[in-house]
Amino acid sequence: MKKPFLTLAQAQEIKRTYPTPFHIYDERGIRENARALNAAFAWNPGFKEYFAVKATPTPGILKLLREEGCGVDCSSLTELMMAQRCGFSGSEIMFSSNETPAEEFELAHRLGAYINLDDLTHVEFLRNTLGCVPDTVCCRFNPGGVFTLGDGKEGFQVMDNPGQAKYGMTRPQLAQAFTQLRELGAKRFGIHAFLASNTVSNDYYPALARILFQTAVDVTQETGCRVSFINLSGGVGVPYRPEQSPTDISAIGEGVRRAYEEIMVPNHLGDVSIFTELGRFMLAPFGHLITTAVHEKHIYKEYIGVDACAANLMRPAVYGAYHHITVLGQEDAPCDHVYDVVGSLCENCDKFAIDRPLPKIEPGSILAIHDTGAHGFSMGYNYNGKLRSSELLLREDGRIELLRRAETPEDYFATLVW
Ligand SMILES: *Cc1c(COP(=O)(O)O)cnc(C)c1O
Repeated sequence: MKKPFLTLAQAQEIKRTYPTPFHIYDERGIRENARALNAAFAWNPGFKEYFAVKATPTPGILKLLREEGCGVDCSSLTELMMAQRCGFSGSEIMFSSNETPAEEFELAHRLGAYINLDDLTHVEFLRNTLGCVPDTVCCRFNPGGVFTLGDGKEGFQVMDNPGQAKYGMTRPQLAQAFTQLRELGAKRFGIHAFLASNTVSNDYYPALARILFQTAVDVTQETGCRVSFINLSGGVGVPYRPEQSPTDISAIGEGVRRAYEEIMVPNHLGDVSIFTELGRFMLAPFGHLITTAVHEKHIYKEYIGVDACAANLMRPAVYGAYHHITVLGQEDAPCDHVYDVVGSLCENCDKFAIDRPLPKIEPGSILAIHDTGAHGFSMGYNYNGKLRSSELLLREDGRIELLRRAETPEDYFATLVW
């Protein structure tokens, strides 16, 4: 059972000030989850989570995570600027970009961020851009091939295709980059890889860690370079579907610890820090898109038209992603109706749910679309002249705080030349 963190009464009250649709985040859930992550990796003294800003680029959220000890992972100029304005600096910032423009490396360096190089040719590019290389540099590794995990029997199977991904360096390039960087003055190194997305499995991080730990041991032996951190990146998933079971972050931390003790400690790498760059895991379950049913339509199927659309949450339209829906106030009612819940874009893919059993929905019913805290608002766009919604925070004491106002038509017109 998925339970929303907002009640009908709360939603009705909020609507009086902030009309639907809006994204709302749950401070308590975010903090408790961040603490559980930090506890799961407390065995590693240098552990730090760098929240992937692209998942939820909202200062109110970034500051809250900073209070829980998190840094930020940026991948563009404006994300770096936002991190700076939120008070992050130096080793609180990871810059994991690709196809990176020179000005972005410049700003990252000025902020003292850890720069994560996506390619061997970026060594030269970085040196030419900065006139030097930083003391610490991270390199992104792509082992190629196909990454598999699990056999599908337990309800999960992870398969991703690093060999087809545009990111990272090959294994020989990784050693070459380290050697070149050291010749240019780098003293400490990080290794990063991102091999599978949204893994609802406790085995992904430990499996990835084993690959990176062994790579660290081998590259250290080959090059003599000193590895100071391993960045496990993102990819720990969340159960979007009610029948899926959530990942267990303490089991994940324990699995990584075992790999660390087997591979790193005996090879004199027992002082290497573990970093993560989680986005989805940190925020997705702690956000709802709240929307009001506006129309019901009875043709070949039953449609419920809501005031949100794919421009507020594109995952269902683009990936066919499942997002659970609760009709607020009907949490325990039988799901004895079958609906397509649709937005108003002139695109037939603008459907939040297809053939979804739900309780009876009337115009005026308020719906909570679940797990929209990451890659939700942030992937929004203005197609069909749709305006971005507000973002709100449900404080631990029940207060509602505005994190971002809704766009107005004037915002939409602001960049136009008439
Ligand atoms: C998107 C991204 C992440 C976060 O991924 P999640 O699946 O949201 O955890 C982390 N690192 C990099 C480099 C990314 O591009």
